[in-house]
Amino acid sequence: MSEHQANLIDGKAYAASLRERIGAAVTTLKAEHNLTPGLAVVLVGEDPASQVYVRNKGKQTLEAGMNSWEHKLDVSATEEEVLAIVDQLNNDPAVHGILVQLPLPDQIDADKVINTISPDKDVDGFHVINAGRLATGQSSLVACTPVGCVLLAKHALGDLSGVEAVVVGRSNIVGKPVAQLLLQENCTVTICHSRTKDLPEVCRRADLVIAAVGRPEMITGDWIKPGACVIDVGINRIETDEGKTRLVGDVAFASAAAVAGSITPVPGGVGPMTIACLLRNTVKAACAQAGVASPEL
Ligand code: NDP
Repeated sequence: MSEHQANLIDGKAYAASLRERIGAAVTTLKAEHNLTPGLAVVLVGEDPASQVYVRNKGKQTLEAGMNSWEHKLDVSATEEEVLAIVDQLNNDPAVHGILVQLPLPDQIDADKVINTISPDKDVDGFHVINAGRLATGQSSLVACTPVGCVLLAKHALGDLSGVEAVVVGRSNIVGKPVAQLLLQENCTVTICHSRTKDLPEVCRRADLVIAAVGRPEMITGDWIKPGACVIDVGINRIETDEGKTRLVGDVAFASAAAVAGSITPVPGGVGPMTIACLLRNTVKAACAQAGVASPEL
């Protein structure tokens, strides 16, 4: 008898097709409404991971036919300087989306900066007004990684109505918004965290597991209900026996794939969806600001 192997949910391919649809929508918006969506990214300091993210965001924004601006500030920049740039971008009609790359240096209050972005331009979906709109079921710009998770879960499972979903992690940027989105999709949602009792048992109830913990390979195959869908948000760099490093998720992939019905790999699962969903949010924000109907993406 051949060993069970879950279907691989290919986030890289899904994100590429989403970016293609976004590019086509941008072409139409330009031709029919003279509207070019534009995204401005603010980067403070020289954190290497942030620099890579910002470069990729700029590149993919331009590839989709949109305008892209990068504002780079020195690591010693003051809060006032960052707030002044956000204010200028809030008032620039060509800029439809503003993203301030996190983390920010210690002297800058990240919440204050995020909540200074106009909620209509908050394409990261982190503004307290957008979090509140999401929680109360109103139309809003929703955080990109959670949207990516739900798109992949729907791709694998179809309609999520009535699905028993377990979210491991309750951060403001992943766990909480992904749980809110799943609730909107009519899932029965359980949110777990570091104080949850008997986490493996809770996970075993799930038809859909979303892992957003930040602990390498914590969730193993014996936590997974046979046939469940597993979406792994974790990005953890670990050392190999050969002294090199490699990326792993929060799920022990091989053991989980032997039980699950479908599973995202790391890398190549949720990761590539984040920037694609950022571009999607920028198109939505541009359409809302221009009073144009947003394309289905
Ligand atoms: P946080 O550190 O902000 O949150 C982690 C959550 O996991 C917390 O709610 C914490 O619980 C919970 N947790 C920690 N340890 C345990 C445990 N032993 N058992 C149960 N729950 C636990 O992380 P983020 O949400 O920001 O990120 C999670 C992961 O996703 C990381 O690996 C990150 O790199 C990755 N990520 C990937 C993105 C992408 O694909 N583009 C984007 C964002 C994040 P408590 O609240 O009780 O402390």
